Amino acid sequence: MVLLGKQGSGKGTQGKRLATHFRIRHLSTGEMFRDSAAAGVHAGLEAKGFMDRGELVPDELVVAVVDERFKNPLEVMPGFVLDGFPRTKAQALELDRILEQNPIDVVIDLDVPTDVVVERMRARGREDDTEESIRRRLELYDTETKPLVQFYRERSILERVNGLGTEDEVHGLLLAAIATRFTR
Ligand code: ADP
Repeated sequence: MVLLGKQGSGKGTQGKRLATHFRIRHLSTGEMFRDSAAAGVHAGLEAKGFMDRGELVPDELVVAVVDERFKNPLEVMPGFVLDGFPRTKAQALELDRILEQNPIDVVIDLDVPTDVVVERMRARGREDDTEESIRRRLELYDTETKPLVQFYRERSILERVNGLGTEDEVHGLLLAAIATRFTR
């Protein structure tokens, strides 16, 4: 499955919980880049400059990293929650290519109002959560990522879930939304 949603919408927290629940893998591109930057790996260091400014990491670099993961079956078996990828139309098309015969079952649009996510990001205070970077990332969400909601809706695999509420409440809503996909 794929999780779409603004920065600070809770994709990371909920993605991890879903992965644990379904015993599948949680793949966060943001986390991959932060880990590889901390480890001094080239791709991570290259990405860090973009991340600190709130810019998207160039598609080629992101796709290369995701491609690499999917080449190792152990990384994506028996299934996966993708968190933070795809974020552009080009990435969504690349994901289709990468997945080939194993299409996505469900895409979730985790919906939280902008003023709430801004507050959450201010509160979490991650290194890249400066005022300017928060503003820029939300702008890029609107122009680059939000169109993917319609892209996947047209494929009839989109579920919209209200991301306001406690962590447990949202987790429950996500499970319910996913369940409708497998009982129809
Ligand atoms: P957030 O959702 O708060 O932006 P993430 O951990 O998902 O947090 O991502 C952090 C940063 O990593 C992004 O601001 C962006 O620079 C980079 N990044 C992560 N995933 C992608 C992607 N699919 N395409 C381009 N850049 C990405």
